[in-house]
Amino acid sequence: MDQLKRVVIAGAGIGGLTAALALAKQGVDVVVCEQASQLGEVGAGLQVSPNASRVLIKLGLADALKSKVFEPDYASIRDYRSGEYYLKAPLGKGAEIQYRAPYWHVHRADLHAILAEACQVHGVDILLNATVSGYQQEQAGVVLQLQDGRSVQADLLIGADGIHSAVRTQLLGPEKPTFMGQVAWRGVIPVEALSVNVKPEACVWAGPGKHLVTYYLRGGQDVNFVAVEERSDWRSESWREEGDVAQLRRAFAGWHSDVTDLLAAAKSSFLWSLNGRAELPTWHDEGVVLLGDACHPMLPFMAQGAAMAIEDAYVLADQLSQNAVSTALMNYEAIRKPRATKIQQMSAANAGLYHMHGGLFGKAKLKGLQMVTAVAPNLIQSKLDFVFGHDVTQG
Ligand SMILES: Cc1cc2nc3c(=O)[nH]c(=O)nc-3n(C[C@H](O)[C@H](O)[C@H](O)COP(=O)(O)OP(=O)(O)OC[C@H]3O[C@@H](n4cnc5c(N)ncnc54)[C@H](O)[C@@H]3O)c2cc1C
Repeated sequence: MDQLKRVVIAGAGIGGLTAALALAKQGVDVVVCEQASQLGEVGAGLQVSPNASRVLIKLGLADALKSKVFEPDYASIRDYRSGEYYLKAPLGKGAEIQYRAPYWHVHRADLHAILAEACQVHGVDILLNATVSGYQQEQAGVVLQLQDGRSVQADLLIGADGIHSAVRTQLLGPEKPTFMGQVAWRGVIPVEALSVNVKPEACVWAGPGKHLVTYYLRGGQDVNFVAVEERSDWRSESWREEGDVAQLRRAFAGWHSDVTDLLAAAKSSFLWSLNGRAELPTWHDEGVVLLGDACHPMLPFMAQGAAMAIEDAYVLADQLSQNAVSTALMNYEAIRKPRATKIQQMSAANAGLYHMHGGLFGKAKLKGLQMVTAVAPNLIQSKLDFVFGHDVTQG
């Protein structure tokens, strides 16, 4: 089979919808099967770094996103008690010029709605209440099976069904994701509810065994927070649940007043267990391929999980536009796996840095980062360039 005509995608998350849009724009007939009864995303923010924003811009979403985003001036790491800066890396217009794409903060629901609308404009068929249970490979493609007995025939199945992916399970066998010993509270606070003046930066407050990330959303109307705590006792079967705000405040008691004042204004939050997987042996089989969290879930400590899903989606669609399916899948995996695996590892390494592992040694590492930033900024820059400077739209 040379000409790709019809693709079925499991999962209408950010990765699945980006792939659907990229393929539909190439004239491919796309069906997306989503288990939820309505389209949407969690009530939380997302950092969209230039490596991902340039894909969204290339797919024609800049105008729709412009009024919804916030562009931070800096990425920073600050001390949990003193507020001292260990790192202050410029973002804003300078980074936009350097990377030829902006650094955005966006509400997930806004990005998701914009992607879904663009998909619908381009004729993507999104089926709701459509839980994928498995698939069957055939000579002429693949048949996707839904839990309710329906099936969808296509030339290719893309498993973009997240960390608990049913497509991954069939491809590689059942294996639960690993609990990473960390939980995250997430919440959004309207600026008018705050007594503290949050700086226009993507800020990580680093402290022993915990960190807190804060940034603005929606042109500065809201502040998003992600509070991460190391824990060994996660027992919930669901992967997210309502968080206890009083418990959250207790966990960060004694931190800098900017942190405690911000958390004092939080009315609600969701609590997530952070899970991961080791590098998978492969991401594809005949007529079936994985993308996003389905194949490389990562700790969110570089804010790159969705960015990697967006990059995956673009590369996969691009390869499929140029090659027969089997070659495209091979090339896609060869291009994407090393980068996604590296970023998975870099994200995990940040846990030690943000949580001051090793007590005084951990603090010394942050001090070292401060010194490197002052005397050898190129070292920090080269790390940022690797992540932000990567341009999948250049082929
Ligand atoms: C606390 C936290 C903060 C984060 N912050 C950032 C950030 O700032 N920037 C960033 O880039 N990334 C961030 N991430 C990572 C990011 O959220 C994920 O990497 C991203 O959402 C993955 O997208 P996806 O489309 O691959 O999977 P998902 O978002 O998980 O989407 C999967 C979709 O598939 C559907 N589905 C699942 N199973 C089935 C089935 N059997 N049948 C049909 N449908 C199914 C689900 O309902 C869902 O809609 C963060 C993650 C966490 C936990």
